[in-house]
Amino acid sequence: MALRNFVGNEHAVRFLRRMAEKGTIPHAWLFSGPPRVGKRTLAIEWAKLLNCQSPSQTDDGLDSCDRCPSCCHLSSERPSYAQTHPVVQVLDTMMVAYWEAAEKAREDERVDFTKLKPKFSLGINAIRRLRETLSNQTLWRYRVIIVDEAERLTEEASAALLKTLEEPPDRTLFVLVSANPWAIHPTIRSRCQPLRFRLIPYQTIFKLLKAKGMEDGEASLLAKLARGKVGWAINACYEPTWRQFREHLFNLIGMMVTMSWWDVSRFAEIATKGTEEFETESETSTASQRRQLEELLEGLMLSWRDILALALEADDLVVNVDWLPVLKEGTKSPERAIKMLQEIRQTYRKIRPPFNANPQLALELLAIQSAQAVETF
Ligand SMILES: [Zn+2]
Repeated sequence: MALRNFVGNEHAVRFLRRMAEKGTIPHAWLFSGPPRVGKRTLAIEWAKLLNCQSPSQTDDGLDSCDRCPSCCHLSSERPSYAQTHPVVQVLDTMMVAYWEAAEKAREDERVDFTKLKPKFSLGINAIRRLRETLSNQTLWRYRVIIVDEAERLTEEASAALLKTLEEPPDRTLFVLVSANPWAIHPTIRSRCQPLRFRLIPYQTIFKLLKAKGMEDGEASLLAKLARGKVGWAINACYEPTWRQFREHLFNLIGMMVTMSWWDVSRFAEIATKGTEEFETESETSTASQRRQLEELLEGLMLSWRDILALALEADDLVVNVDWLPVLKEGTKSPERAIKMLQEIRQTYRKIRPPFNANPQLALELLAIQSAQAVETF
């Protein structure tokens, strides 16, 4: 992939291309915007262009060749720990897990690298490691450090990163990527050149899915379910697990629209069961479980938005068109749908950084509020 294949957020692509052409580039960036719209992908593709050995001028502007040795060492499809570029590095919670596992393997512990799970946060050790690599001289044009989910930097790590940002090494760029920029240390934020990303229009995603050989009906449903998150749609093309996930969501929304006090703890139990099991109380299992819960809450929000649309007789706005009988159970009053949307949003915020509430408790609270809403409205 190269910039010419990047879908959506054309303003960001144009801006970054111009920066590459001009050559005087601010050293710290913050790519922010909704999840799965391509922020991290674009950061990697930009790093590719900046270090490409034979970039070419296309109709849309400068682009990487995608073939030279430098380009071949970088791929936005590869996980962070499998990137092999000498000076472009992606730091994320998966990389931290990899470093930890490698450390254990060095101490002769048995480690299964195929079972790596992302860590919950980016700690001070990760930034220390990064700073060590920065002291090496480089003959490359740009060293690019991409920090994905920068809101997961711990306080200590933020302080260390801030120091580096304030005395940046020569020709080194930092690209912080975040869907929750307000959770990043404000001083770090103020040092960065902001670049905002937007959701991708339905038509663009629909066309992309069609180009991948999908049939009209399925492409339309997926493009709607994606709600602007093109990365989600692309992933769903290759990973049929979204169907099981949707079934799970369907059961939960069915429970929510008729929630009784008896169902409260069962709801939380079922909601967390569909996500990865709590094998241990380890930090890693909680981290990936939280991510799946976030997705689940997003799905519930979309379902209640559908219910609101139905209650307001705006049926054409409904996304989950195949769920109408169940959704209609919740349509007695638009106030209830609005109330539920607020509550789910609250739960979503609570389980994310910086609050990190206990997911089980947060879901039980949400179930209590649903039961209350069934009584009130
Ligand atoms: Zn190249």
